[in-house]
Amino acid sequence: MKLDILAFGAHPDDVELGCAGTILKEISLGKTVGIIDLTRGELGTRGSAAIRDQEASAAAAILGVSVRENLEMRDGFFVNDENHQMEIIKMIRKYQPEIVLCNAIDDRHIDHAKGSKLVSDACFLAGLIKIETTEAGEKQTAWRPKIVYHYIQWKNIEPDFVVDITGFTDRKIAAILAYSSQFYDANSNEPESPITSKNFLESLNYRSRDLGRLSGVEHAEGFTVERYLAVNSLGDLI
Ligand SMILES: [Zn+2]
Repeated sequence: MKLDILAFGAHPDDVELGCAGTILKEISLGKTVGIIDLTRGELGTRGSAAIRDQEASAAAAILGVSVRENLEMRDGFFVNDENHQMEIIKMIRKYQPEIVLCNAIDDRHIDHAKGSKLVSDACFLAGLIKIETTEAGEKQTAWRPKIVYHYIQWKNIEPDFVVDITGFTDRKIAAILAYSSQFYDANSNEPESPITSKNFLESLNYRSRDLGRLSGVEHAEGFTVERYLAVNSLGDLI
């Protein structure tokens, strides 16, 4: 199955927190999108791997993505080496996306920057024909995505561009709240963490409003790029 966009996250819920609005919008424009979670988030303060599997499925249904897979790497301890890169290369060649979305280049959780570099490196390597991979016994064709965009999650990284997600914020929040074990819950008896605060939940709305305010729309999500983006004419940016 070929997809237009493949979004990677170190943990289930990273993609939702970073770019759910953009995914919803792209799907509404007719694009096909898949999500690959690197780990099951088994080290999360609240919930468990099994609970997070169910939550990830529920969130995927809300987003309307075509596929969601989990590579079951070790939460907290996966590394950017050949074995892990090969797992990502196989996914890139399997789904052949033009666009890859991945974690923030720097963030509070150490897995985010690690996952960001791992996926970015694998996107390059996936295009090298002498790296051979197989999927279900079949030799895969080399494939390099045209571009890698990094979404922004915890830290306020300065975006290189923003996507207008006006009209998609309610469903974005619904997809995030599908992870009911992870975020603010007045009735939870589980330990607190920075992401379980009411402030964090509210920050999702005020960040998209703030990026919108700065770019002349209601709500926006920000991304960074690894190289300059070219446009055909100045009019493309109006
Ligand atoms: Zn995460």
